[in-house]
Amino acid sequence: PVDTPNDLYKKVGALFNMLELKHEVQTVCCILTLLDHPNVSLTESQKQFFRELLDEQVPNLEKVKKRLAELRQTAEVIDHKLKRKSGAYRVAIADKTLSVREDGLALLYSPEIQTSPSVLLANSSPPGMHAEIIPELFIFIPDAEIDKAKQTIHQQYRTGNMILALMVVLGGVLGGGIFIAVHRQRELDAMKTNFIATVSHELRTPLSLIRLHAETLHHGRVSEDKVHDYHQTILTESERLSGIVNNVLDFSRIERNKLQLHIESTDISALCKQIAESFRFRLEKDGFELEKQIQPGIVVPADPLAVSQILFNLMDNAIKYSDGEKSIRLELERSGDQAILRVADRGIGIPDKLKKHIFDEFVRSNDSKASARRGSGIGLSVARRLAEEMGASIEVVDNKPTGTIFTVSLAGGSTNEAAIS
Ligand code: ADP
Repeated sequence: PVDTPNDLYKKVGALFNMLELKHEVQTVCCILTLLDHPNVSLTESQKQFFRELLDEQVPNLEKVKKRLAELRQTAEVIDHKLKRKSGAYRVAIADKTLSVREDGLALLYSPEIQTSPSVLLANSSPPGMHAEIIPELFIFIPDAEIDKAKQTIHQQYRTGNMILALMVVLGGVLGGGIFIAVHRQRELDAMKTNFIATVSHELRTPLSLIRLHAETLHHGRVSEDKVHDYHQTILTESERLSGIVNNVLDFSRIERNKLQLHIESTDISALCKQIAESFRFRLEKDGFELEKQIQPGIVVPADPLAVSQILFNLMDNAIKYSDGEKSIRLELERSGDQAILRVADRGIGIPDKLKKHIFDEFVRSNDSKASARRGSGIGLSVARRLAEEMGASIEVVDNKPTGTIFTVSLAGGSTNEAAIS
């Protein structure tokens, strides 16, 4: 038996890479047959290398194995065709032929090469020609043809390596993708756990304020001039409480695909005024200035509770994420056939790279100023979903010189002249 030089191993490897990548199952099988053949003396580690390559890289390995089992039978039949003469081996399976020369040159033939005019078919071997045998037939290959084949093989080898490198990179990217996905899932799990703790805490604050103020009032321990403030605090905090509870309920309905809105003709000018009024006490108490520019009588087809919830979330955030200049502008105007609702603050702003994710659930800025404020990270995701359900859109841009502007655009509707006059 011929000792296969190391080259053979490399070149067959190159062919293998090339062709396997093209999903040429048959060629993979050729190689496998070669590997198993007693006349081709690959070392154990070389065989191991091929097996590992197969395991790692043939995505359709099962298909290949099945095909291999089929071909094994054929291979047994054609095994007798594998003859050694002039130092050449030839393995012919289906329409592909792999011939391996003693010097390690592996040539892959397709039927076309056999019809090439420079390849002669004859019954005897002229000197100086590389001859190979298949039963009853010699194939003579001129040296030029072999050189060409050598070049092709080198090229294939290089391409094979390039594709291999590319696959490694792609594998890395894919692996990275999976890693990111797993990482994101873990993050989401952690966020969900955190969410329950945060919401409970968020609920506790208004609840304890309501209780404290109600109890103090109940025991008559409030001076006459403060009674109104106590009532106001109870009212404001219970609105905040409902805001949080409604967010959680909406969020849970969204998660379960159970969100159902009731679209009706809604006077959102009146709604905006109402929400602004409900925030008045809290704004005053915290030293905020609220500038209102609400065009009267704008009526749109919308779910009034959903619009209130969106507005509540935006106003609540505007207060929560303000720092230094405590100034909020609430605008409502008609523009073409749309009603445009804006909540602008002069607060800490949202970093650019976070803007496109800010409407995703549980996304919170990890900026130290933002994370110092309590929040569960669902307010904006609920707002976006409610808006989308009404055919509206919501977006965020920077305010000048600082802060953010959230804009909700609601389509359709009209202006109610009666409401204006
Ligand atoms: P929460 O406020 O409960 O964290 P939201 O979904 O309402 O959740 O907001 C998500 C994140 O978006 C906030 O954590 C904050 O980082 C950022 N954000 C929202 N509104 C504003 C705003 N007006 N100014 C600055 N950052 C904001």
